Amino acid sequence: MSLEREASGAGRRAAGAARPKGTTDFLPRSMAPDPGLFDSEQKSSVERLFRELARRYGFQEVITPTFEHAELFTRSAGASSDIVTKEMYSFTDRGGRTLVLRPEGTPGVIRAVLGAGVRLPVRLFYTGSFFRYSRPQKGRFREFHQLGVEALGEASPLADAEVIRLGQEFYSALGISDCTTAVNSIGCRICRPSFRDKLVGFLRQKQEELCDDCRRRIELNPLRVYDCKLETCQTALDKAPRPADHLCPECNAHFAAVLADLQRTSTAITVNKRLVRGLDYYSRTTFEYISGALGAQDSLGGGGRYDYLIEELGGPSEPAVGFALGLERTLYAASATRQVSAGRLPLVFVVWFSEDELTVARKLAEQLRQAQVAARVDYEAASPAVGNKMKQQMKTADAAAARLVVIVGPEEISRGVYSLKDLTTGEQTEVPAGESVVRIKQLLGTLQP
Ligand code: AMP
Repeated sequence: MSLEREASGAGRRAAGAARPKGTTDFLPRSMAPDPGLFDSEQKSSVERLFRELARRYGFQEVITPTFEHAELFTRSAGASSDIVTKEMYSFTDRGGRTLVLRPEGTPGVIRAVLGAGVRLPVRLFYTGSFFRYSRPQKGRFREFHQLGVEALGEASPLADAEVIRLGQEFYSALGISDCTTAVNSIGCRICRPSFRDKLVGFLRQKQEELCDDCRRRIELNPLRVYDCKLETCQTALDKAPRPADHLCPECNAHFAAVLADLQRTSTAITVNKRLVRGLDYYSRTTFEYISGALGAQDSLGGGGRYDYLIEELGGPSEPAVGFALGLERTLYAASATRQVSAGRLPLVFVVWFSEDELTVARKLAEQLRQAQVAARVDYEAASPAVGNKMKQQMKTADAAAARLVVIVGPEEISRGVYSLKDLTTGEQTEVPAGESVVRIKQLLGTLQP
């Protein structure tokens, strides 16, 4: 199934139970129509990899609510950003509070840290769902998932480079070999005002060539024009002044240090002087991870430095840098390279011959679970309505993507053995009943996932 069909909600659906537009289901691999795309096992596996990597860089997990006070985002993402003006899912609760389903993670993390009086610097990571009301299309959903890190209280350009490197390492571990990193600097409170004036002057002259949105942005937030997706606006910007060419000496030195450190370890870095990103709070470094596998929505993830946001949200004046990576787009790019291993626990299905062996089968499943082996028994096959009980259980084992079947029959019990069948290779062996748990565990250890 293509991302496009998923995004438009036109996938297979049960009668009367259509998915809300712009949402997606993550089914177990064995049930997913197109293995590798919306696969709950791959999602968990990618999240696990991200957690491990983030911890390796000294980040600790933070979990914040899915909805927040609307003000948190109007104060942070910027009143002129598309996310705040057009895309927020906001609602009034029964107590009359204006709440929104979080469109992004950073403000909630800062709110949590400030509320708990945590001393900076801290490094935190998160995973979760986010919500933006935009037109669903390939790689763009209304509910999507992000994996993010925030290094709060770190001013060094080496922190920018380390955060960027963490994302690169994540994509490289997933085998997304065409991932490149675009980097830019958009300056600070010192150099941005004079740059802004130059840009406004330029844009006023180009008004006729800009779209309605960009014309409004000239006075409201001229840097945003760089983010416009329309080719006509991008062409109009061809000769526009670029923020990175008008940095103050401190921002220049910072940007040079970020680039020098990145070039030490990576070749897939490009400077993109048009890169401003969709949120208003960035300062100095902005960056984006790009993959050719994605088509128009080619940004896998992105982030930057946000040295004023903590203060704007009522905290101390502390610098910070972070990123958010899109999980759906990551899965899509990774499935194109077929690198995500499901990382699932192989399931053992204990099949009984007649109800006389059901108790023995149950006991074996319980012993297997105690030994950390995933095990299941089909109780539904015991129904008088089921004629061929063995056949029914094998069907269920198949649907559950079981790796191994253990057959518990009267003939086996009388000989003190169980038969094992590898459902992938079809190979069959017998093991002594008394040693079955140990032998099954050993066998699973040698099997290919
Ligand atoms: P942002 O929070 O806008 O900086 O976006 C960071 C990343 O999140 C993007 O590069 C995308 O991979 C992902 N993302 C943002 N918005 C969406 C969306 N509507 N649907 C799917 N992924 C998204």
